[in-house]
Amino acid sequence: IAEINCHSGIITLRAILRLIIKAGARLAEPGEFTKRAYLHGRIDLSQAEAVLNIIKSRSEEALKIAGRALQGELSRRIGEIRDILIATRAPLEASFDYPEEFTSEEIERESINKKLVEIIAKSKELLINVERSRAMQEGVSIAIIGRPNVGKSSLLNALMRQQRAIVHEMPGTTRDLLEGQINLGGYPLLLVDTAGIQGSEDPVEKEGISRSRKAAEKARLLLVVLDGSKEIANEDREIFRIISQDQGLIIVINKTDLEQRLSVCEIKETFKADTIVKTSAITGEGIDELEKTVANKLDQILGYSDISPIVVSIRHEEIIKQALSHLESALEQIDENPLEITSLELKNAWHKLGEITGETLEDQILDKIFSEFCLGK
Ligand code: GDP
Repeated sequence: IAEINCHSGIITLRAILRLIIKAGARLAEPGEFTKRAYLHGRIDLSQAEAVLNIIKSRSEEALKIAGRALQGELSRRIGEIRDILIATRAPLEASFDYPEEFTSEEIERESINKKLVEIIAKSKELLINVERSRAMQEGVSIAIIGRPNVGKSSLLNALMRQQRAIVHEMPGTTRDLLEGQINLGGYPLLLVDTAGIQGSEDPVEKEGISRSRKAAEKARLLLVVLDGSKEIANEDREIFRIISQDQGLIIVINKTDLEQRLSVCEIKETFKADTIVKTSAITGEGIDELEKTVANKLDQILGYSDISPIVVSIRHEEIIKQALSHLESALEQIDENPLEITSLELKNAWHKLGEITGETLEDQILDKIFSEFCLGK
């Protein structure tokens, strides 16, 4: 590897690159350096994937999880489980091959049973917090919805603490979606200020409304904004009819700096909601409280637990779940079926888990994993 330091500026850099390539060099493939480290055995596959996750991290928490994986935490835990699997299976296989040398006490179903319970618990522990870790890695989408002029864009601005959304006094100004990214309680949040989700005849507004509805449907958490200085309008009620009950919901009563006409009790009763925050997007009052409430609600939705998360990627989650299904099937069958079946399921689980560290993985999957990397990494 040669490192070339040169003058900055894209034209100079391109010219130098052209010369180097002409002289026989080639551009690195996506993730090639990490792949080489993997192929040369310096790191295993889960560590290589951790490099990608470090690059993709959008919050400090996500970075910590990826950092632990890079140091080999996931590989160590998987290795531990696979070792127990081998230790459990070895005497079984030996007894199939040399039945005369094993007494029935040596191959006790009860002790295999115990081992299986232990491995299943260890595997399940790896999946604790997986959804929350992924949310920390990839971000959570939150939609701000409400009828026109209640202060959605102003709230987005207040949360962003910078003027990225257009704020306007005319109802229906926010015709398209406005997005902003912030970090709250370790979660990278994608905030979408919607154009309103009620019907309109105007074709431009119609398009905005359809996009808003889609954004609201996709969001994990909805911030439904009401104008505290006005009484509940039919349009507000309409919004509550449209939104899904499965999503997290926070009601924001905005414009607390004006004379108030909405009461919290009335809202609780009308909308059957228990999380209500009062804000003024203009004075900033209640914005900190809103931030805390959003973080708490996300912990609630995604399941908070003190255990440090280990697994983030869908690939790892799927592998562990498949291994678990082999182990559970082994446990179910142990009392009634021949031990050959148990042994086979143990082997399947061992093989499956090896896909995480790359020990039992096919080349095509390997290529797919590294193709997600960017050039030069
Ligand atoms: P949206 O249509 O829901 O996005 O509402 P906007 O954010 O565009 O705000 C509509 C109007 O209400 C603007 O004139 C804002 O300045 C005003 N507004 C927004 N939030 C507050 C608030 O907390 N207090 C007061 N007094 N006015 C607000």
